[in-house]
Amino acid sequence: MTMLPVIPTSPDTPDAVATRRRPSMPPRHLADLDLAGRREAVAALGQPAFRAKQLSTHYFGRLVRDPAAMTDLPTAERARLTGDLLPTLLTPVREQACDAGATRKTLWRLHDGALVESVLMGYPDRVTACVSSQAGCGMACPFCATGQAGLTRNLSVAEIVDQVVYLAGVAASGAVTGSPPRLSRVVFMGMGEPMANYPRVIEAVRRLTAPAPEGLGLSQRHITVSTVGLVPAMRRLIAEELSVTLALSLHAPDDDLRDELVPVNQRWKVAEVLRAAFDYAAQTSRRVSIEYALIRDVNDQPWRADLLGRLLHSKLAHVNLIPLNPTPGSKWDASPKPVEREFVRRLRAAGVPTTVRDTRGREIDGACGQLAASELTVVDAGGAAAEAEVAQ
Ligand code: SAH
Repeated sequence: MTMLPVIPTSPDTPDAVATRRRPSMPPRHLADLDLAGRREAVAALGQPAFRAKQLSTHYFGRLVRDPAAMTDLPTAERARLTGDLLPTLLTPVREQACDAGATRKTLWRLHDGALVESVLMGYPDRVTACVSSQAGCGMACPFCATGQAGLTRNLSVAEIVDQVVYLAGVAASGAVTGSPPRLSRVVFMGMGEPMANYPRVIEAVRRLTAPAPEGLGLSQRHITVSTVGLVPAMRRLIAEELSVTLALSLHAPDDDLRDELVPVNQRWKVAEVLRAAFDYAAQTSRRVSIEYALIRDVNDQPWRADLLGRLLHSKLAHVNLIPLNPTPGSKWDASPKPVEREFVRRLRAAGVPTTVRDTRGREIDGACGQLAASELTVVDAGGAAAEAEVAQ
């Protein structure tokens, strides 16, 4: 693990500590607005509408946010324009890297002192950002570190987008060794439950996928939204007619166990949640990814593999098994490899495409379920992130 020399500010300044007690939404930012909204915002500053496009080109097109580099803006107006439309939303508190620089986790402090994390993952053919949609999470899944501290607040559209734009800048700088310099994928698998911050997450997806300079110009298909299974929001997502990939964190094929592992199952049961996922697949013609963290002696029995196989047989779905990542204080452990292999074998025998996710970022508590953003624990913070090896 490498500690990277960032950390320009202390998270424990009196200001940050004082404001941390009162979560509040951040100032409005260019990424909260579409291009028309940005034109109105610059007009309100008495500036010509084309300044909106210039600022957007800097931010989304060139990944530039330093006013000094915006030489096409009149010097006298730069500070006012950037101050109004590009307020600082995320302050890096700590950056950590592992996997020879291919996995990098950033801990951010938000304007109110709330903490979130993002993870950048480089592969030979692509670079993926794993981003947070909320500070904390209210879903309380007992095996997930993020779930243990509860929800602090929703992130704004721009707080979500800015994580990606920042990481796209890191990729563009060539810092992700052995990977292309262009960030091409985003997974909403960091802290939080994206479907519990629905309107902002959808708006962030629109911004990330709008062509530059309105947005970052990513492909919808290269964006994965992961959910515990908030069925009404999944139904809304179907109606949006987007083509993002949906991942469903199932973790158990039976209600008895899922009620415990994913408490929201007490409200929306396995059958109902799978029906919504299959309907999404039918609407988009894209396979849904069924996430299943394999937990030793909890959900890894052969009969559960067989039951999952029956539920998914002939459906537009594939299973992404996640070896359980350790979290502080958890009584649970990953399944032994032979048990994992047997689980995979049974699913495949049932005709269900199955992959095992790598455990990227484990060393820096940056793997799935480990994001906890606890910078107060000096040695380790951590967040929940990692990429779904979603077959595209
Ligand atoms: N709330 C959303 C987004 C978080 S994604 C969701 O749950 O889908 C994070 C993924 O990592 C989810 O699939 C989650 O269930 C999984 N996860 C959480 N804790 C984990 C752990 N300790 N080990 C492995 N995977 C974990």
